[in-house]
Amino acid sequence: MTSTVMTIVLATKNPGKLAEIRTMLQGLPVDVVSISEVLPTYVSPIEDGDTFEANAFKKARAVAAATQLVTLADDSGLVVDALGGRPGVRSARYAGEGASDAENNAALLSAMSEVDDPQRTARFRCVIAMVDPYLDLDRPVYAEGRCEGTIARSARGESGFGYDPLFVVTGLGRTFAELSHAEKNALSHRGKAVAALVPHVESLIRARVQEAKSVLVGQGSS
Ligand code: IMP
Repeated sequence: MTSTVMTIVLATKNPGKLAEIRTMLQGLPVDVVSISEVLPTYVSPIEDGDTFEANAFKKARAVAAATQLVTLADDSGLVVDALGGRPGVRSARYAGEGASDAENNAALLSAMSEVDDPQRTARFRCVIAMVDPYLDLDRPVYAEGRCEGTIARSARGESGFGYDPLFVVTGLGRTFAELSHAEKNALSHRGKAVAALVPHVESLIRARVQEAKSVLVGQGSS
């Protein structure tokens, strides 16, 4: 069993995200805990940033400040070229505050009704911010993942959530909602963002181990 060098908090209450990130960080000497385990009364800050980076940072900073633990937070959404990048950071509430997935999908189809096939390009983006309160609460490290696709003319597939039934993955011809969990995780924006984050976590671990060694040497320990 690998010994744990540090605990990382994942600033989400979504069990799916927690499981996915835990799996991808397996093998590293870190203990990934959910926000509910360390801050049961946590209320997520309002995501009012103009960018995925700003929202991910806001969430990660709040939790890192409260727990004094290394914290990861992600923000993701659908970026549609013909709509000037919308719904973007407003993906969860494209059809209005508290909108359901079905309402958001209907709003997207309606906004895209006059758009020809070659112009229906889009991508899912996911940005993860990592904040280390021990170093500096205001110097986040970012990792990003993208998945390219196009917007279908009608919904297809039953699995997944959000805009999955309308997002046709480039090179696959199937929507996210027509893929199994494993297939989607292997090529999704979130999976790629976590993969891009791994080297950053590894270098943080190396720095921690190095620091611990120098402290011990300074205390005359061998
Ligand atoms: P969050 O930042 O992961 O909470 O995502 C914000 C919104 O983006 C979600 O409510 C969805 O509308 C959309 N979204 C993000 N990732 C996905 C995905 O993998 N499939 C479908 N919709 C997604």
